[in-house]
Amino acid sequence: MIPLAEAQQVVIDHCAPLPTVTLPLVEALGHVTAGAVAAAEAVPAFDNTAMDGYAVRSADTAAAPVTLDVVDTLAAGAVPAVSVGAGQAIRIMTGAPIPPGADAVIMVERTRALDGGGRVVAEVSVPAGNHVRNAGEDLEVGKVVFEPGEVLQPAHLGVLAGLGIHAVDVVRRPRVGVMSTGDELVDGSQPLSLGQVRDSNRYSLLSLVRQAGLEGVDLGMVRDDPDTIRATIGRGVDTCDAVLTSGGVSMGDYDCVKVVLDEMGDMSWMQVAIKPAKPFAFGMVRETPVFGLPGNTVSSMVSFELLARPALRRMMGHTQLHRPLVRATASAPLRRRPDGKIHFARVVWGYREGRYEVRSAGGQGSHQLSSLAAANGLAVLPDGHGAAEGDAVELIRLHEG
Ligand code: AMP
Ligand code: MG
Repeated sequence: MIPLAEAQQVVIDHCAPLPTVTLPLVEALGHVTAGAVAAAEAVPAFDNTAMDGYAVRSADTAAAPVTLDVVDTLAAGAVPAVSVGAGQAIRIMTGAPIPPGADAVIMVERTRALDGGGRVVAEVSVPAGNHVRNAGEDLEVGKVVFEPGEVLQPAHLGVLAGLGIHAVDVVRRPRVGVMSTGDELVDGSQPLSLGQVRDSNRYSLLSLVRQAGLEGVDLGMVRDDPDTIRATIGRGVDTCDAVLTSGGVSMGDYDCVKVVLDEMGDMSWMQVAIKPAKPFAFGMVRETPVFGLPGNTVSSMVSFELLARPALRRMMGHTQLHRPLVRATASAPLRRRPDGKIHFARVVWGYREGRYEVRSAGGQGSHQLSSLAAANGLAVLPDGHGAAEGDAVELIRLHEG
């Protein structure tokens, strides 16, 4: 058996980031920036008011309450036509430019209009700069907004749009082909004959691919027939950036997937020291990474999580490849037997009174997928007897639900 970290490194080393593409903002969410982005203009572009109120000379308000003449009104988007002289004010709405002569804004709640708006009483004194948002206060011209390797979140896209940047250079999103293999597999809802198994891996794996921010390509369900498998893998590696197969990589298994993959590429057949998901194959077929995931439903998903996802994240340009581990407390025992492997137990985690707590999500057999559906995390149980109630364990949070 080889240690998990070693298997992960072999795979990661072969999965280089994809080339850069330029995407419109609306398509860029979740992509990783390929270059630095600098601000070519200031944000905000001009001094403006943060409040509805009156633009004033702060010196005029020193002896508040004081009555000022209102000489103009500025809505957001308006261009000031007159300046604020001594003893004068301009009615101003949030976002409007500060008119010349004014150096402060007094919020409307601190004023009282007189003469139908012709004059206003400033009830308090305000310092220079009061409620003024200065040009460049968010971003100054020339400021590097994002470095390469930034994951574009909604706020990033808002910042780019705010700079007038509507196309952004990102690492291309990998297309990941997913195929199931096995003579026993059936797709659909027709009654099963003895020996038949419904194909669930293609649905769970395609979803994992999409959840990781990649494009999933359904390569279908393939019989254990060398020609079909060869044709499907060939189509996969020619049209996708990575291919995931499931089934046919177990120890002692000498089925068609193995034969065909060995003939098409330079494959490593691994026994990874983990449970579930011990058997795993990886190799390059015509320069495309191919991941041979085990067939058992839980194994294929855990194998994706631990071995495929980090490498696919590298292809996407991410630098943070692994999920962060957090320390949790077992609120009930998580038992296991020593076998030289790290066990990844399906658990339900919650955050209570300042700490993560985990309990088993149900049966831990590699075919018991319903407990993975019930789980929201994997507890890492090093070789040994597992965790007793109250013991600390490391936790991978798969999702928040
Ligand atoms: P294999 O890795 O091909 O030896 O398969 C191991 C187990 O996983 C067997 O019980 C298979 O029937 C089952 N299996 C393989 N592929 C799938 C699949 N796509 N969906 C559900 N179960 C599968
Ligand atoms: Mg099989």
